[in-house]
Amino acid sequence: MRRFLLNLSIKSKLVAMMTLAATAALLFACSTFVIYELGTYRGAAAAEARAAAQIVAGTSTASLAFDDGKAGVENLEALRGEAHIQEAALFRPDGSPLARYARTQPNARIPLRRGPDGARFEGDYLIVFQPATLNGERIGTVYLKRDLADVRERLTRYGGVALLVLLISPLVALVVSSLLQRWVSRPLRRLALAASRVSAESNYSIRATKTAQDEIGTLVDRFNEMLGQVQQRDEALRAARDELEDRVRDRTLQLQNEIAERKIIERDLLAAKEAAEAASRAKSMFLANMSHELRTPLNAIIGYSELLQEEAGATAHKALIPDLVRIHGSGKHLLRLIGDVLDLSKIDAGHMSVDLEDVTVGSLLDDVAGTAELLAHKNHNRFQIICADRDAVMYVDPLRFRQSLLNLLANAAKFTEHGQVSLRVQRGVKQGQEGFDWTVADTGIGIPPGQIDKLFKSFSQVDGSNARNYGGTGLGLAISQRLCQMMGGEITVESELGRGSRFSIHLPAAPDSRPKIAPDHAPGLAA
Ligand code: ADP
Repeated sequence: MRRFLLNLSIKSKLVAMMTLAATAALLFACSTFVIYELGTYRGAAAAEARAAAQIVAGTSTASLAFDDGKAGVENLEALRGEAHIQEAALFRPDGSPLARYARTQPNARIPLRRGPDGARFEGDYLIVFQPATLNGERIGTVYLKRDLADVRERLTRYGGVALLVLLISPLVALVVSSLLQRWVSRPLRRLALAASRVSAESNYSIRATKTAQDEIGTLVDRFNEMLGQVQQRDEALRAARDELEDRVRDRTLQLQNEIAERKIIERDLLAAKEAAEAASRAKSMFLANMSHELRTPLNAIIGYSELLQEEAGATAHKALIPDLVRIHGSGKHLLRLIGDVLDLSKIDAGHMSVDLEDVTVGSLLDDVAGTAELLAHKNHNRFQIICADRDAVMYVDPLRFRQSLLNLLANAAKFTEHGQVSLRVQRGVKQGQEGFDWTVADTGIGIPPGQIDKLFKSFSQVDGSNARNYGGTGLGLAISQRLCQMMGGEITVESELGRGSRFSIHLPAAPDSRPKIAPDHAPGLAA
């Protein structure tokens, strides 16, 4: 019911409100009027009854003074002309009845004793006790009982009229309110209609029409203002969207151009890469051929120089021996250099591969121990191997590992005189990865701090005079580092100038973590 009332249209609500308000006001007015009339009429009836009692008291003075009951009854009988007086009586001063009168049932319910003076309503009757006096002295009391039929009849008449008014007035209110409600509902309906059109057509240029300066007029103004703001924002949004679309179009065009340019660059790069690869292949081929071509005569030079040394020793040409030793040494150095350059070019071209296998630490140590000891003793160094677990198994390419380790040991022996060279093998963790550390430590010349970063670069020696003093190509560490990286490990170095150096090869223990071939190199020629 409440929901039904809430969902009524404004028009119906206004009509209902006005009709109910008018009816309620009328109901209040009619009831007030009827109550007022009832009070007034009852007051008039009481005054009238008291006046009649005074008249009876005046006419009954003699009968009361002489205690004449018969005369008293005659006096009371005069009340028969008063249609509403139902009973009457005269009481002596002591309160006992002297004469009684009843309009219909004689003496039926007339009180036998007098009551208190005054007028009062009892049920549908008005009771009056009026004192009768003679020369200022009370000689008795007059009793009257008046019915209120006329009051009731009048009340019924008024009630009827009020009911009629109440029945007709809502109809009148209904008609009038139906006409008047338009003042309120019509502008509201127009506003609602404008709002519906705005929402249905998404057209924010529509405006509601203002008809008055009241609250609805203010509502229409605010509504129109709001629409104005929405329209502005809508236009700004549309402009922004158009601008965005333009920018996207421009950017797309730009990107398409860039893509086209990149494609051209890519094509050029690909051509350059192919050319570089062809050049690299040609270089490898050239190096392989050249090394073969150089090694053959070099080996002959080395072999013949050895032979000539032996012959010179055995004959009288001993003076030639130092020159022959120099030829032999230079030949060997050249052979090593050719071997190193070939190795490095193979690594660079991705033609170097490693063959990983399970090898015990002991067998790897045995591989290098003899050579390392010989090299160390050459410069009067002590040599020491420290290894707790010779049976531990590593997953490496034994040939490449030996090459790298021997390079470190040869360097340590070469750059240390009358000192100590040691090789320590132990398990170690590097960047959270378990593995083995092969550390070659010496007490030799050490490396200046600024030079350490350059050590692993090709053809790099700590100082140019090294080549003269110690020999070497400056390629060993670069090759060793690349080989260890191919086996999943790396070489690190710590050194102090004049006190010695520590080179460590760390190789991880887990076979899975080691690539068989360098990641960016395709398999090619075996080393
Ligand atoms: P090289 O054939 O010249 O020894 P390497 O690449 O093996 O080439 O070494 C590069 C340079 O690093 C060496 O010339 C030397 O200057 C320095 N070096 C390497 N190992 C040591 C070491 N144990 N003590 C001092 N210097 C070293």
